[in-house]
Amino acid sequence: MNDCIFCKIINDEIPSQKVFEDEHLVVFKDISPKAPVHLLVVPRKHIASLNEADESDRELMAHVMLTIPKIAEQAGLQAGYRTVLNTGKGGGQEVFHIHFHVLGGGPMPFA
Ligand code: AMP
Ligand code: ZN
Repeated sequence: MNDCIFCKIINDEIPSQKVFEDEHLVVFKDISPKAPVHLLVVPRKHIASLNEADESDRELMAHVMLTIPKIAEQAGLQAGYRTVLNTGKGGGQEVFHIHFHVLGGGPMPFA
């Protein structure tokens, strides 16, 4: 957890372009965008992946999901967007702190 890059972003130990935050989550721009709008929605709690989420994370995960439409609206994605959650190396996960990608603002398909 101590060398987790997303924990460091959450704690402002390394820079990022944050666009939204609340008590439970932080949203910042992906450093290597795959779409005109590419945001990462990251719970403050360090959960390595969806496989490590458990019953105690039920409310947190619901909160994250239900906050995504608000973030998308704020980002100008009224036409719609793609939400991606990569799990494990076989699922393309590179950063092992659970996060949703929100992609939109241009022609599909996005990564
Ligand atoms: P995933 O493959 O689902 O784990 O996605 C990790 C994402 O984090 C990739 O899209 C990276 O471009 C992005 N990323 C890695 N480091 C940073 C960083 N320092 N700031 C913003 N995004 C990052
Ligand atoms: Zn972390």
